[in-house]
Amino acid sequence: MSSTATDARMAMPCMGEDEWSTSGPPVRPFAPDGNGEYVCTYCGWIQGSETGGADELCRSATWHSLDAYRAMAARARAGGLAPPADPPYFEPAAASAAAAPPPASPAARA
Ligand SMILES: [Zn+2]
Repeated sequence: MSSTATDARMAMPCMGEDEWSTSGPPVRPFAPDGNGEYVCTYCGWIQGSETGGADELCRSATWHSLDAYRAMAARARAGGLAPPADPPYFEPAAASAAAAPPPASPAARA
């Protein structure tokens, strides 16, 4: 009889979700993805650990706030990882607002 731990789930903060409380990201149950990482059973985000998820998010997400990026990078560094000093993909909030449909205000029609 062989014993495996491949079906062991674990709970950890999910770095892939937007709905953070003031204390941080929501804690979700994660299941092994078969490649040494874990997949969030709530949203499907894959991370090897909380700090690994933070590092991945630093590298792959488009950031709109340098403060938010630096806070996430600090989480990754706390786990011994080395995210870039500056976000690889950075789009200031003003630029993303410009890309959105214009507000329907009478002044915009003038
Ligand atoms: Zn999740």
